[in-house]
Amino acid sequence: MSHELRTPLNAVIGMTDLLLKTRLDPQQRKYAQTVTASGQTLLALIDEVLDLSKIEAGKLELERIQFDLISIVEQVIEVVSHQTQMKRLKLGSFIDPQIPRVLIGDPNRIRQILMNLTSNAVKFTDNGEVFIRLNAGRRTAESCEVRIEVEDTGIGISPDRMDRLFQSFSQVDASMTRRYGGTGLGLAISRQLCQMMGGDISVESQPGIGSKFWFAVPL
Ligand code: ADP
Repeated sequence: MSHELRTPLNAVIGMTDLLLKTRLDPQQRKYAQTVTASGQTLLALIDEVLDLSKIEAGKLELERIQFDLISIVEQVIEVVSHQTQMKRLKLGSFIDPQIPRVLIGDPNRIRQILMNLTSNAVKFTDNGEVFIRLNAGRRTAESCEVRIEVEDTGIGISPDRMDRLFQSFSQVDASMTRRYGGTGLGLAISRQLCQMMGGDISVESQPGIGSKFWFAVPL
């Protein structure tokens, strides 16, 4: 169904982008910008729902190709840096030199998980810092465990809500959805992907102090 859902929506977004390149009065421009923004939100939601249903149907296949993990981290930093600048947040990273430069796994899915954790960290932090840390863990002849951490100094999560975080459509509360948007699917998908890769994902958090999400996968 992916194609059937995406094609008309891409047309809506594409045509609205063209419309925005024409001469419009300020009110028309605002309406067209709202169409684009809503279209993009819907496209992201469709991608997430399709991902989750594919995972739940056991139809999602992971790739096994060579990739460079460090360049994935750099790409994610590049994508969120505009937002961190707008919010005046510090954005830092540490990469353990023990991490092999060439790994084998599914780079797109790893990017997806890291992007989800990092964009959440930025979304839920108003002051301070978002920090991405990569550490090499246990090593065998064939694999190296890689632990990727995203720490923020944001609003944090209360202990009674932590266990629900990784369930589908789970957001901390309805007022947060109104304020921050989002679907509540990102962490559920991230956990499923980590488990499919033979790894895991977890969180430590203190309300008002910040959160630290991490995932570890053997690569
Ligand atoms: P979404 O962000 O699309 O709502 P997620 O599954 O990624 O969905 O996150 C679920 C919920 O977990 C969020 O709505 C938020 O309430 C909480 N959450 C996730 N990351 C953080 C974070 N870094 N700080 C505070 N709350 C978070």
